[in-house]
Amino acid sequence: MPYLVNEKCIKCKFTDCVEVCPVDCFYEGENMLVINPDECIDCGVCEPECPIGAIISDTEDVEEKWLKLNQQYSEVWPNITLKKDAPNDAKDYEEETNKFDKYFSESPGGTDIVKNNNNEITEKRYEEKK
Ligand code: SF4
Ligand code: SF4
Repeated sequence: MPYLVNEKCIKCKFTDCVEVCPVDCFYEGENMLVINPDECIDCGVCEPECPIGAIISDTEDVEEKWLKLNQQYSEVWPNITLKKDAPNDAKDYEEETNKFDKYFSESPGGTDIVKNNNNEITEKRYEEKK
């Protein structure tokens, strides 16, 4: 069974998870990531990388909603394979609850600039969304 991203990721989006995925199956929305459940090979290496426990195994007591959401949006949002800076205010939202109802956005991610560990830009894909 695949791994999934849940609402804890919304507005945190640290992206520590994406670089360890061997099959590059993370996809980026405006303020969260999702995993494509058909591409995920269930290796589990991403789970401990998430500093806030937003990645869960589908074998856990997962609401059907999150499986559907990961499936649906991984088919339309852009793929993300490199770590990027988290939003400046990400820490403010770590402990917040009901983030889906308050903040979920259907918009695709704004992967405008991606940097490597030397702070060099390695990828530029989208203009910042206004
Ligand atoms: S590390 Fe966790 S919070 Fe960050 S993008 Fe990945 S799933 Fe979301
Ligand atoms: S469990 Fe493995 S394959 Fe699935 S999203 Fe995480 S790192 Fe990628």
